[in-house]
Amino acid sequence: MSIQIDKDMCCGCRRCSAVCPGMLIEHDADKKAQIVYPKDCWGCASCLKECPAGAIKFYLAADIGGHGAVMQIKRQGNITQWIINKENSTTIIKTDSKAANKY
Ligand code: SF4
Ligand code: SF4
Repeated sequence: MSIQIDKDMCCGCRRCSAVCPGMLIEHDADKKAQIVYPKDCWGCASCLKECPAGAIKFYLAADIGGHGAVMQIKRQGNITQWIINKENSTTIIKTDSKAANKY
């Protein structure tokens, strides 16, 4: 698994590098994030959840996506949208952080 960071969307907030447990993300001279050790990414999705700009794409493994399928996250208040783009379809799953302790 790995991620891809869109530098044009990145605002340089450094949240992704702060949460990456493997310290795999660094910043260039313009503060834009870049993954420097993509092969070491184990797909925890922490950076994805933290990014306020939606600049990070998460490549899905073959068993849950494959064929270039990616997941992105958009947040609005308590609501997080998990957007899964597969070859011929888009699925959006919404979660509410205020309801996280319901289950
Ligand atoms: S998915 Fe996890 S391990 Fe991979 S770059 Fe993001 S925070 Fe680091
Ligand atoms: S969290 Fe998103 S916007 Fe912030 S530095 Fe990382 S990629 Fe850029």
